[in-house]
Amino acid sequence: MRLRNIPRANDVIASSPLVIQDPKAQRGQWKEVFGNDHPIHIEVGMGKGRFITELARKHPEINYIGIERYTSVLLRAVEKLQGKEQAEGQEAVTAAANIPENLYFICMDATELPEVFAPEEVARIYLNFSDPWPKDRHAKRRLPSRQFLARYDQILKKDGTIEFKTDNRGLFDFALEEIEPAGWRLLMHTFDLHADAELMKDNIMTEYEEKFASKGNPICKMVIDRER
Ligand code: SAM
Repeated sequence: MRLRNIPRANDVIASSPLVIQDPKAQRGQWKEVFGNDHPIHIEVGMGKGRFITELARKHPEINYIGIERYTSVLLRAVEKLQGKEQAEGQEAVTAAANIPENLYFICMDATELPEVFAPEEVARIYLNFSDPWPKDRHAKRRLPSRQFLARYDQILKKDGTIEFKTDNRGLFDFALEEIEPAGWRLLMHTFDLHADAELMKDNIMTEYEEKFASKGNPICKMVIDRER
């Protein structure tokens, strides 16, 4: 993702009711944040947030948390939901019908996930079009790497799952190789999600998915859980 420094991003994010400002303080208490004990699903590397926002609208019985490292990217998600004027503080942010009550965002690096969520606090993790980090020496930065799988292991429920989509075949093959040595199990996978009408019934497109699928790139998807 091309990044620009957007001067207003920090202020908008710091004053947004959609963004949890001190996520580590909520560890073990996310139920209280949402005011219910619905399952919590998170998207790591949510980008501009279309996927998780649409999921939240479709599934009021689930609580969603989108995680994004860069303020300049998260800003786009916040502005889409709050409206640009509200996000800039020109109008008081109201509980607009536009903002799902079961959705929050966090601006953080995913390496800190175990400091933000207690063991078994998360029921599902979505990874969509994660950065490929093509150099071998950067493999541990890839979100489906064994290092990140170990972090997910610390926060996921015992029967929790990870769903990973990408058009990057190299990254997908890498993930397929990481699963078993890291103690995970492949529940399903496809190298061409969009050719499968059954799987597409429930598919929600991310911004990157729309872009790459429209170029004709096949989209790969896998679902994994822990070996028992
Ligand atoms: N998921 C979105 C989609 O499919 O349209 C965005 C995909 S974009 C290629 C990957 C996003 O993941 C970027 O916005 C990047 O900043 C974020 N990201 C990458 N590594 C991250 C990390 N360690 N923690 C949090 N966000 C991360």
